[in-house]
Amino acid sequence: PPRMVSPERRSDDVGDTALRPQSLSDFVGQQQARKNLSIFIEAARKRGEALDHVLFVGPPGLGKTTLAQIVAKELGVGFRATSGPVIAKAGDLAALLTNLEERDVLFIDEIHRLSPAVEEVLYPAMEDFQLDLIIGEGPAARSVKIELSKFTLVGATTRAGLLTNPLRDRFGIPVRLNFYTIEELESIVSRGARVLNVGMSADGANEIARRARGTPRIAGRLLRRVRDFASAADAATIDRKIADHALSALEVDAAGLDAMDRRYLSTIALNYGGGPVGVETMAAALSEPRDAIEDIIEPYLIQCGYLQRTPRGRLLTSHAFRHLGIAEPSRDAA
Ligand code: ADP
Repeated sequence: PPRMVSPERRSDDVGDTALRPQSLSDFVGQQQARKNLSIFIEAARKRGEALDHVLFVGPPGLGKTTLAQIVAKELGVGFRATSGPVIAKAGDLAALLTNLEERDVLFIDEIHRLSPAVEEVLYPAMEDFQLDLIIGEGPAARSVKIELSKFTLVGATTRAGLLTNPLRDRFGIPVRLNFYTIEELESIVSRGARVLNVGMSADGANEIARRARGTPRIAGRLLRRVRDFASAADAATIDRKIADHALSALEVDAAGLDAMDRRYLSTIALNYGGGPVGVETMAAALSEPRDAIEDIIEPYLIQCGYLQRTPRGRLLTSHAFRHLGIAEPSRDAA
């Protein structure tokens, strides 16, 4: 079943777009990133030049796509979006690039998933705004150079380490996004409630924010579901009681953990004595791909202080045992 608290975009997140902030000043949190971006955007605008290529790095749902759109808006240029897995052939990328206008923003989500052949085309495009294409086949093949408009590539990825070095090196402006604080999520939830036209008390916003795993996409999703409960109960305002009732019914616990997280933690606690246990072993035990475990499940558990990644494997903290209500084995006995 789809997870209420998965940070990745889902088909039922269409309501998301209504909640999207439209300018850097509307955008809550990520203060350092916003500050840097506004300086670089201002400088590029003053010089009338394309902004240097930007790489957003951070877990899903923290606002990479939103920020890319805002960058284009603030630059006053066109915006086109695609994603790594969608660009199948070098020709697909060439078609996208030749259609860009001067200073446009091209956003490539999941840029670490570009194929090597497509990446090869991207290097000269990013560096010299040139396409090197091979036309024809066999002895008749010849290479042609096509001049491109000076554009800004905005790439997004969950971990910088997933990118090849030559690709990573071509981004002049790397921007890391971090999980949001509860206070920041409260203000995102309150703003979302205004957009959705539902009343929200401060303690209601706090209850949703606390369970949103530091992630605006999850906050928005929880907000929409809690609103459904409020409508069903004919409540005009969402308060802590309604939020708590709804989120408990959705099996999102007080720390924002769902059944999958608790299964992950309790597997380490009960089957592996709290660890350390290797990620491959965990992937097999849970029948989940390793990538999903590393990118989706673990970051929030680490952020909460439930889990440590050590050279010998994953290790539960005392905090995690307390949350699960499981007695911690004495480690020095081993
Ligand atoms: P990513 O590209 O990192 O996966 P998105 O940019 O698609 O994340 O953001 C997911 C949703 O979260 C957006 O639709 C938007 O509604 C909301 N969101 C993200 N960042 C913010 C923010 N700083 N303030 C308000 N809402 C945000």
